[in-house]
Amino acid sequence: MMATLILNPEAEARVRAGHPWIMRHEVAKTRGQVRDGDVVAVEGRKGDHLGMATVNTRSRILARIYTRDDRPLDRDFLADRIRAAIAYRRQVLGLGPEGGVRWVFSESDGLPGLIVDQYGPCLVIQLLTLAMDQRRQVLLEILDGILSPAIVVERSDVPARQAEGLEEVRQLWKGELAGPVEIDECGVRYLADPLGGQKTGFFLDQRENRMLVRPLSAGRRVLDAFCYTGGFAVAAAVGGATEVVGIDSSSAALKLARENARRNRVAERCVFLEADVFDQLRQMEKSGERFGLIVLDPPAFAKSKRNLEGAYRGYKEINLRALRLLAPGGVLVTCTCSHHMTEELFHEMLRDAARDCAVRLRLLRKTTQASDHPILLGMPESQYLKCFWVTPLDE
Ligand code: SAH
Repeated sequence: MMATLILNPEAEARVRAGHPWIMRHEVAKTRGQVRDGDVVAVEGRKGDHLGMATVNTRSRILARIYTRDDRPLDRDFLADRIRAAIAYRRQVLGLGPEGGVRWVFSESDGLPGLIVDQYGPCLVIQLLTLAMDQRRQVLLEILDGILSPAIVVERSDVPARQAEGLEEVRQLWKGELAGPVEIDECGVRYLADPLGGQKTGFFLDQRENRMLVRPLSAGRRVLDAFCYTGGFAVAAAVGGATEVVGIDSSSAALKLARENARRNRVAERCVFLEADVFDQLRQMEKSGERFGLIVLDPPAFAKSKRNLEGAYRGYKEINLRALRLLAPGGVLVTCTCSHHMTEELFHEMLRDAARDCAVRLRLLRKTTQASDHPILLGMPESQYLKCFWVTPLDE
């Protein structure tokens, strides 16, 4: 018999507004035996059916609603949802594997705990919950049936799995993979490294921002801080930057960045430095360097609410230093991929940094993650990437 969770009023209101998570303390009553990884029914306090959720008593996020209907999480349901997610990318966004695509983005596609990316012939899956982990085999079969990729890799090697009581998994499930694979992002060629790279190999979520950086870079000297494999750097060089400097602390990432520059025939205008961004910005400030465009795309400094204060200081420091490095008329593209660093807080940090270096900043635009990482409006956590495009008012 399937168990039922009866929610407290606050959780009920949140769930009705579209939020899929139920925390441990939000359950008023449980009917039946809850088994980790299984499906439970979710009810409001008057017995209304609110949906169906996967459950794991080990996790702080006790249950995740995958449908407001009453369908079981079986092969048919998973196949329907995956097909719909793929159709959205193909038909609405016009994306395909040649350019790199996120086919499935977890809660935002009604599949909590499942991420599916594809780079050319290589499919990459990431399973973040016990329920999805238990359904690995059927998920691999469904994806193989729909997409028939030559290569399938699993990159479930993320710390978030610990919270679900799961080990990290990094595994080649199909085909052979000698190294990175090439994608073509609207005319820019990048190597993605599904087995050896960070995350699933490439930061697809910055695609639309890389596209915006291209025309903005023409005729400017560009700095790409936290450049990883040179996503922004190479886009800027292709867009006509006079010189591009990329900084990252990972030598493996920089090796690919240099190769990416070569593949796009812009290597002679790109320099990649292996350094700590905090140190390097300080040094550049001392030596009086200037850039017409600066991209700051650091890793999530705020991994939890607890270290938000330290994170705020970190963001402020790099933004302050970047502002000092801007040439007259320069543009700063500053990002945060931490959902704890809310848009309001990020805004406040920028105002703070601007005041400290005595500039009046103008906001050109605000952008977010690419549309193959859709934001579920009822779930603020699903909007994790915030990018502010700012330019000082020359006094
Ligand atoms: N902008 C990239 C993604 C950046 S991911 C893209 O669009 O592809 C963040 C990067 O920051 C990682 O490559 C990581 O190696 C690097 N990093 C983290 N801390 C750093 C530090 N203190 N100094 C330099 N690089 C750092």
